[in-house]
Amino acid sequence: MTLKGLLLYYVIAFVAITSCVQAKYRVYNTSQGIVPGKLNVHLVAHTHDDVGWLKTVDQYYVGSNNSIQGACVQNVLDSVIPELLADKNRKFIYVEQAFFQRWWDEQSEAMQHEVKQLVGSGQLEFINGGMCMHDEAVTHYIDMIDQTTLGHRFIKNEFGVTPRIGWQIDPFGHSAVQAYLLGAEVGFDSFFYGRIDYQDRAKRKNEKSLEVVWQGSRSLGSSAQIFAGAFPENYEPPPGGFYFEVNDKYPIIQDNIKLFDYNVQDRVNDFVAAAISQANITRTNHIMWTMGTDFKYQYARTWFRQLDKFIHYVNMDGRVNALYSTPSIYTDAKYASNESWPLKTDDFFPYADRAHAYWTGYFSSRPALKRYVKVMSGYYLAARQLEFYIGRSETGRNTDSLADALAIAQHHDAVTGTEKQHVANDYAKRLAIGYTEAEEVVATALACLVDSPSDNGCGRSTTRFQQCPLLNISYCPASEIDFSNGKNLVIVIYNSLGWKREDIIRIPVANGDVTVFNSEGKIIESQLVPPADAFMDLRDYYVRAYLGRNPMVPPKYWLAFPVSVPPLGFSTYTISSVKRGGGHSIRSSIQTFESSDKSTVEVGQGNLKLIFSSDKSKPINYINNKSLVEESVEQSYSFYPAYNGTNDKAPQNAGAYIFRPNGTFFIKSEGQVPLTVMRGPILDEVHQKINEWIYQVTRLYKGKEHVEVEFIVGPIPVDDGLGKEVVTHITSTLETNKTFYTDSNGRDFIKRIRDYRTDWDLEVNEPVAGNYYPINLGIYMQDVKKEFSLLVDRALGGSSIVDGEVELMLHRRLLLDDSRGVAEALNETDCVLDECKGLTIQGKYYFRIDTIGDGAKWRRTFGQEIYSPPLLAFTEEDGDSWRNSHVTTFSGIDSSYSLPDNVAIITLQELDDGKILLRLAHLYQIGKVTETSLSANQERTEMEKKRLVWKVEGSSSSGEESKLARGRPVDPKELVVELAPMEIRTFIIDFDHKSYRRAFDA
Ligand SMILES: [Zn+2]
Repeated sequence: MTLKGLLLYYVIAFVAITSCVQAKYRVYNTSQGIVPGKLNVHLVAHTHDDVGWLKTVDQYYVGSNNSIQGACVQNVLDSVIPELLADKNRKFIYVEQAFFQRWWDEQSEAMQHEVKQLVGSGQLEFINGGMCMHDEAVTHYIDMIDQTTLGHRFIKNEFGVTPRIGWQIDPFGHSAVQAYLLGAEVGFDSFFYGRIDYQDRAKRKNEKSLEVVWQGSRSLGSSAQIFAGAFPENYEPPPGGFYFEVNDKYPIIQDNIKLFDYNVQDRVNDFVAAAISQANITRTNHIMWTMGTDFKYQYARTWFRQLDKFIHYVNMDGRVNALYSTPSIYTDAKYASNESWPLKTDDFFPYADRAHAYWTGYFSSRPALKRYVKVMSGYYLAARQLEFYIGRSETGRNTDSLADALAIAQHHDAVTGTEKQHVANDYAKRLAIGYTEAEEVVATALACLVDSPSDNGCGRSTTRFQQCPLLNISYCPASEIDFSNGKNLVIVIYNSLGWKREDIIRIPVANGDVTVFNSEGKIIESQLVPPADAFMDLRDYYVRAYLGRNPMVPPKYWLAFPVSVPPLGFSTYTISSVKRGGGHSIRSSIQTFESSDKSTVEVGQGNLKLIFSSDKSKPINYINNKSLVEESVEQSYSFYPAYNGTNDKAPQNAGAYIFRPNGTFFIKSEGQVPLTVMRGPILDEVHQKINEWIYQVTRLYKGKEHVEVEFIVGPIPVDDGLGKEVVTHITSTLETNKTFYTDSNGRDFIKRIRDYRTDWDLEVNEPVAGNYYPINLGIYMQDVKKEFSLLVDRALGGSSIVDGEVELMLHRRLLLDDSRGVAEALNETDCVLDECKGLTIQGKYYFRIDTIGDGAKWRRTFGQEIYSPPLLAFTEEDGDSWRNSHVTTFSGIDSSYSLPDNVAIITLQELDDGKILLRLAHLYQIGKVTETSLSANQERTEMEKKRLVWKVEGSSSSGEESKLARGRPVDPKELVVELAPMEIRTFIIDFDHKSYRRAFDA
């Protein structure tokens, strides 16, 4: 159309619209549906409600603390419902169930009835449907599943519906596990998101490839694919001024001809222009507009009034078709178009929103919170199993509040570390409350299970078990008892894994003259290791900081001994004084080597040996006498001074989200620091004080073929005015050719190539930060002969910046904000009374070197062991009667059976309706078993029937492939569960009868 023609068209359209407008009550026609042949603009009214960020989840819900942010989710839900009732064509989606459930509980029956009708008619649709919109980088897949299940089951129970759409619009990059596991396997038909790399986005706009078919799993291929769409910019309305919150500054449609500033045609033109611009980068004639953003619709009428008018006038104009829609309607329209879509594999990490702004700092932000979440997650898994054995209590303590706290902690401003400090404290407080309740469930369950079966009922058990959640700071009053008065210490060790576990337990003890007995009453070998000052300082400070009291006299030793625990069961170990016991625990030998000694020292009691040189400039020799692997390993610490970009043209500081290093500074030991070696029959330790604020212990256990490194880092000094990001490097001689592998949410490993992206030609502007990836389980690298694997104890960021080398970011302390909204520097401190200092963290990582092809088994099984550590419960006994009067070993599964070592039970839980939720495989005496979607809100067969089959560019339909990738359906008589590689299967089990103590065939 020529310019003149275009003008004429507008004039005609303007006359057409104004001539039928009168300045009196007006009914807007909002009933428009999809019009084939036209460009359809799907208006999706939504609000993005962070489950904690600048304010806590409860502050956001009730709308308090508004000086920080004017946000009240109660207002949103209170005001949206009447607006939906006022016009049956209006639609709204709601996402975060943590908020919705708070609101729902407060509503009258009449209101609940009306809302159920709105959900039934599709006017109000639950999207995503988890408790929160979880992060995808630093979350573990079990936590993602649990928090989604919690929301989905609530929606199913209250409304009888299953959410169809994944809606991860704000998380900072997107994972493969999200696409295939939390998308396809949940039964979602599509999945939408806002944040992908700016370079990737530009290319995808050009190629109209923002919308794809995503196959996140190489193992499951097209059988777990999903239609996935990145928004053109973000999750807000399109450019052109379409925000209508009560205080927004954009022009509303003024359509009262009697008043000044009538602007209908202007606004219709704005609308059409924005629609055409988006259509130019989108396949098919359907585009989606996300009409809302953070905490919008607090006065919903202001939005719906404008949306009504737009739909009315734009459709009168007729150039494009505007309609009230939802992501479900949009997805169905995309599917009906029969278009072929580009294929996407792997993931969308790392994410940069512009040059020098890589959101890879948050992979490590708040390392203590990240560890806390991980510990609680593993504990929750074990606690649910124990709760299941004795039957869930509706009235007393149960694991529900830990479930809730963990669910909320997965939010993309929670475990990510990108919230304000007071909000981080709130998450930790919730976890602590949840833990306290779950701890009682565990203690009660164990007390019940150790009672002889002849003692009827759990309630009568007199055993009081204590646990030690502060073992990480060497604090365990329950184990630090005085043996002199004839008491014995009883330790029940529970193993939540589906296979038998051989492990080494370490507990602090007050006295070294002790003997350790196993479940049969036999004396077993044990070792005493004196605790280093660095650990005792940590204990002293943090007990005072967090418990508000002085710790008791420090323990004299760590007592280490080997344990063997059956699958889903426990063993009992007792410790008594030597006088009573006979054989005694062996004290470690201690040697120190000065740097000037020029000597070497070999440690390791088993197949694995490390040879250290007292001259720290020399590498460590790694030798495995069984696998015959030899390697030379160097280990060091550095920090990246944080970039201060305040004065730049395009300012960008390092902050809670963003990693932007300004050079590297290697940390050298200050002066002559000796190497201290402790040796004994169970384990050897090498202690190194790296500097005043970094301490490291390298540990080798007899019978284990990996190296354990424990570190204490902090307080990071900032008195030079510089924020710092502390990393450790582990260097090998492997020729890795820029290639390494990192896990996706603790599950699949994904290949990474330095300075390279599969989907576009990367312009490298941050050679370190731009190569960082999230690590939940581990990182590995390989050459033609060997592979080097490293596993972590919490989520953190890492990379391989140099061939043969792994880098892990352990701690960050920053003094500036990175301008992504949190408006607070990531400068964590702890205080005793009024004296505060920077946060110190303690943690572990584990590494191992194998011949090529042999590392996967260790990464998988040991990774599961890190996630599910042995659960220790302590009690005292007078005399030696425990073994005669109690059950000392127990297994939840038949003694003739152990799960294959590549299968883990990730959920065994009694649901509130008394049914049992089981994830993965096992045989039980059961009445009925039903396979379900991952979030257990629909039957699997039903889900498969509904599954949309999307066309992928350049490939024919491959139904056969999807069959190959899957285990067969479960035969209801045989109850044999097959698992294909990387498959997770979920079952709901109805027991024929209920009993308080569910020991199957024990
Ligand atoms: Zn958000």
